[in-house]
Amino acid sequence: MYLQLTPKELTFRDEVRAFLSSSVPRDISQKLLNDRQLLKDDIVRWQRILNAKGWAVPHWPVEWGGTNWTAVERYIFREEMQAFPAPPPLDFAADMIGPVLIAHGSDEQKRKFLPRIANLDDWWCQGFSEPGAGSDLAALKTAARLDGNEYVLNGQKIWTTMAHYADWMFCLVRTTRGEKKQNGISLLLVDMKSKGITVRPIITMEGDHEVNEVFFDDVRVPAAQLVGAQDRGWDYAKFLLRNERATIARVGVSKARIRRIKELAASEYRMGQPIIEDRRFREKLAAVEVELKALEMTQLRLVAGEEDEGRTGASDATASLLKIKGAEIQQATTELLMELAGYFAVPFVDEERRELAGDGWNGPFVTPEWAARAAPTYFHWRKMSIYGGSDEIQRNVLARGLFGGQGG
Ligand SMILES: Cc1cc2nc3c(=O)[nH]c(=O)nc-3n(C[C@H](O)[C@H](O)[C@H](O)COP(=O)(O)OP(=O)(O)OC[C@H]3O[C@@H](n4cnc5c(N)ncnc54)[C@H](O)[C@@H]3O)c2cc1C
Repeated sequence: MYLQLTPKELTFRDEVRAFLSSSVPRDISQKLLNDRQLLKDDIVRWQRILNAKGWAVPHWPVEWGGTNWTAVERYIFREEMQAFPAPPPLDFAADMIGPVLIAHGSDEQKRKFLPRIANLDDWWCQGFSEPGAGSDLAALKTAARLDGNEYVLNGQKIWTTMAHYADWMFCLVRTTRGEKKQNGISLLLVDMKSKGITVRPIITMEGDHEVNEVFFDDVRVPAAQLVGAQDRGWDYAKFLLRNERATIARVGVSKARIRRIKELAASEYRMGQPIIEDRRFREKLAAVEVELKALEMTQLRLVAGEEDEGRTGASDATASLLKIKGAEIQQATTELLMELAGYFAVPFVDEERRELAGDGWNGPFVTPEWAARAAPTYFHWRKMSIYGGSDEIQRNVLARGLFGGQGG
């Protein structure tokens, strides 16, 4: 198959680009360019602009606000947003719990939650991991006991991203103890304002507050907030995690960062010449770009396959492959940024370091914002090799796909 956008797809891409140019708030895209952490308000503001345009949840069925776009158009839209850059949609909401509710939720749950997800009226977090249950997720212990028409929850979640913003959590809990630990798990929708919930921050090594511990102490959850059937939560979790891995490659984000690196490398000097003219730096940059092109082609082949063969979504092995490569490339771009910043990635630049930086440094004696963010950004993105299933776990899935009879 020849990977080239059709004239209709190119027109669609131009329409998306024009919308982004006129609609993304400049302060938000500036934050993204400088790798500054987005706040809740930034993400909500952008999601509501998208929703007003009718583009908040393009991958959903039309009756719930979807667009009827083809798989390639959905891909173009996502990549263009990332490359602009515009904030990604809150994946816990639009990409994770939304599709699960559409496929397995009750009519009442769909009516209550889906419009609010599209407009980001509710902030969602993902309550899966626990101490002792990360890679081995089915070992989770948070227990839900049915008492009348309510479940009573006790236990603890960890690494819960942005739980401090959350109105709701989709939460995996143990409802029955069986021989096989994957059986007896259920998916509950938990109101984060319920009595008995405590959220404690975890500050990560770059100094940001993104993840949390969440404790449940006799938290009462109406039985109507069970998704699908009791004890079948493992099936819904697998469906949800596969969606997470398939959207995680984020080619557009890496494209935007490489564009930024090239701009900076052309204007920053070291040893009397623009860094972009340093042969070793150019070689490293080119190597990352080649890998990114290959990833983009792989993703496009997958998307085009959906179109041609009527497949939906990636197989487990393909989703894992996209996740591993996407993470490696994003991390490589943050390494290039560190190399570019050199000593100026260290927040406190003293006279000695300034001299070591070379005779070309003619900026003010302050670390520029992009350079000050280089080290936190580098540390921050190490997380990609862990969340959504660690690299080692993805490689196990990939090996099973390649050698264990599962189609890629
Ligand atoms: C920044 C961040 C945000 C996160 N956000 C969320 C969130 O919002 N919600 C949520 O539920 N979870 C979240 N997580 C948790 C994440 O999903 C888990 O950290 C991940 O699944 C790994 O589990 P663990 O930390 O318990 O490590 P472990 O499972 O204890 O793994 C430790 C090491 O052992 C390796 N290992 C384990 N088992 C195997 C095996 N079978 N074969 C080979 N190697 C193996 C792992 O690869 C890893 O290197 C987040 C994590 C991070 C870092």
